[in-house]
Amino acid sequence: MAAHAHHHDEPHGADLLSAARTSLEKSGEQWTAMRESVFRALAGFDKPASAYDIADAVSKAEDRRVAANSVYRILDLFVAANVASRVESANAYIANAHPDCLHDCIFLVCDTCGQTVHLDNDSITSGVRHAAEAAGFTPERPVIEVRGKCADCD
Ligand SMILES: [Zn+2]
Ligand SMILES: [Zn+2]
Repeated sequence: MAAHAHHHDEPHGADLLSAARTSLEKSGEQWTAMRESVFRALAGFDKPASAYDIADAVSKAEDRRVAANSVYRILDLFVAANVASRVESANAYIANAHPDCLHDCIFLVCDTCGQTVHLDNDSITSGVRHAAEAAGFTPERPVIEVRGKCADCD
């Protein structure tokens, strides 16, 4: 299959939760109750969420105070295990729509409402990697984010 024809299912709800769990466990980490709470909170946001947003959501859901610091550590694990992505220009995190598939994602971030749409286009992202390599640079993690206005705000 050609790179640009890459397609995969994007699981939702319980399916997304179990796909996230599988990916985290494959990375050698335990899926604990706290990690599940953080993932549920993260997946419940329709725009990128900061560790503070997630700590607040988990604190409300569990009726106990959860520190943003512990959420940060879990988010780092999630990013390393491909369970979450960091949206750099929003300084926030988003649940990975395809935790079982590792590739570079493109994010379209609305400047007005913050809604972030995820696009996969492997021919563009591999072009960025190749251009970096051609310049003698080893790309570890291309960050491709497009700021602008979403269809609702336009
Ligand atoms: Zn993607
Ligand atoms: Zn918008």
